[in-house]
Order: sequence, then structure tokens, then C-alpha cells
Amino acid sequence: MRVIERIEDLRAACDIERAAGRSIGLVPTMGYFHSGHRSLMRNAREGTDFVVVTLFVNPMQFGPDEDLDAYPRDIAGDLAAATEERADVLFMPSVSEMYPLGPQKTTVGVSSLTEGLCGRARPHHFDGVTTVVTKLFNIVGPSAAYFGRKDFQQLAVLRWMVRDLDLPVEVIGCPLIRENDGLAMSSRNAYLSSEERAAAPALFASLVEATEVMRDGERDSAVVEKLVSDAIGKNSLLDIEYVEVCDALTLQRLDEIDGEVVIALAAGAGRARLIDNVVLRVDGLLVEADLGMRIGLDPSE
Ligand code: AMP
Repeated sequence: MRVIERIEDLRAACDIERAAGRSIGLVPTMGYFHSGHRSLMRNAREGTDFVVVTLFVNPMQFGPDEDLDAYPRDIAGDLAAATEERADVLFMPSVSEMYPLGPQKTTVGVSSLTEGLCGRARPHHFDGVTTVVTKLFNIVGPSAAYFGRKDFQQLAVLRWMVRDLDLPVEVIGCPLIRENDGLAMSSRNAYLSSEERAAAPALFASLVEATEVMRDGERDSAVVEKLVSDAIGKNSLLDIEYVEVCDALTLQRLDEIDGEVVIALAAGAGRARLIDNVVLRVDGLLVEADLGMRIGLDPSE
């Protein structure tokens, strides 16, 4: 695996691969790799010839009071993990490499989908994401880019951006990877105290409960949202930010549950802000739920 820090070196390496007819898979990350990141790398390894993993803690997607400086880092561990997953390149640019002139005057923004859910508490977050991902697309020229369904809103926003701007990239959504007790894996889980860590699986449990009442025929979003909030609210260490049933494509809140929907939530737990979701396909009495994969990936697999 080649470690690259300069944009021009990454562009040159990718140009050579594309000229040789090889497809490029891009996996954008902020590092501190866990099995969720590794599963994206595996999907990219299977789906494309040349895998570029990027590790950049992007200041543009953090708010002024957020955890940019505290964001967990483990460069040695990340190098080992990306090597094990047979990435071809790990791109680790500095902030000045990505933003040499300081804050950008040109940004990419997606309206409507970015306004609700996490966008309410993090008003400029998705502009940071869509801008940096567009830059990475332009540097790398991937045929496919891999994102986790854990960040469901991010995935929906990026899909919309690619369609709106006719970007020649296939956006591939990969399964949400969970700890064995159901907690969605996240670099930010490192912030949890042992008590908060013990409380956190209640988020997943509440989504399982919601799925069950929907299987029993409940179609009223307000009822489902209240059930999830009440289940989480029983735990004093979890502070609910939102629970919302939305259309999976447009992310608009639904009154009545039908078609492809997502139940998305965010909650504070000490210093950590945790998100989770379940995607459901509802067709008459039939409810098909995607609750993610409740297994740690064995790195030696
Ligand atoms: P991050 O490093 O947190 O910015 O995440 C980089 C990529 O990994 C994003 O596409 C995330 O959606 C994805 N990711 C993070 N956690 C998980 C998870 N538990 N399961 C699947 N994908 C994940």
C-alpha cells in the first residue's frame, strides 16, 4: 500500500490506473478505523481494481463547538488496517494541502435533504461533506465510491448530489456494521465512559422494538417515534436529539409509513453524539427491515 500526502501525487497515481483501463474505488473516511470502515474497504476491493482509501479529518464539516480537535486518531492502527484490507493507496493530506487558501470560496451544497435530521443541529456539516467529497471525486476519478448506511443522511445527500451534478461515479451504500450488542460502530464510541457504553445499545434496541410494532401493523409515524423516544428516554445517560420517520429517498418526514422509509435518530451520551437508523420497505402488511450486520468483522477472515 502506498501512503500519499500530496494531491498531485494521488492524481498522477490515479491517472495511470485509469489510463491502463483499471477501475478505481474510493473510500472516504476520517480514520480511527473499525469494522465499519473495513467493510467499506472490502466492498471496494471486491468491486474495483484499484482501491483508494482517504483519511482526512475535514475541518469544514465540524461546527465551531464540535469535536474537531478531540477527534480520535490512530495513524499506526489505520495504516495496519488499510494494509490488511489490501487498499492500494491511503491518502492522508494535511489541512493546508486540501484547503491551501484557507476556507473555500467555492462550496457544494445540497438543499432540502440537509435541513432536517442531523442538519438541524449541524447546519453547515453537510456542505463540508459534499464539498470535500466532490474534491476527492475530482482528484481521484473513481468509478465507484463507498459509503456506510450508518450515516444514512450523508449517503442520501451524496446520492442526490451525484444525480443533480451528473457526476460519473456510482455511489455504493454498504451495510451498517454493529457491535455484538447492537451499538452502531463509530469512531466516536471511543468517547463513551463505561456507563455510557453500557447504556448505548438501547438506541439499537429501540429501533428493533419499532420494527416489531411495524410488523404488527403500526403505520402511524408519531406512534413509532414516541415508542422509540420513550424506550431511549428511560435511560438517563442518553439525551435524545431527534427521532424521525422519513422517506428514505427525500428524507422528508412522513405522517403515515409506506414505501421505503428510514427511522433515524441521534442522541447525546456524555461527550459523544451517536446516530443510528433502520431502513424499512413497507408494502401493505409486508415489512422488510435492514437493521445492519450485528457482527464484528474478523480482520483475519
Ligand atoms: P467516518 O470516518 O466516520 O467519516 O466514516 C467514513 C465512512 O465509514 C462513512 O461512509 C461512514 O458511513 C462509514 N461508516 C462509519 N461507521 C460505520 C458503520 N458502523 N457501519 C458501516 N459504515 C460505517
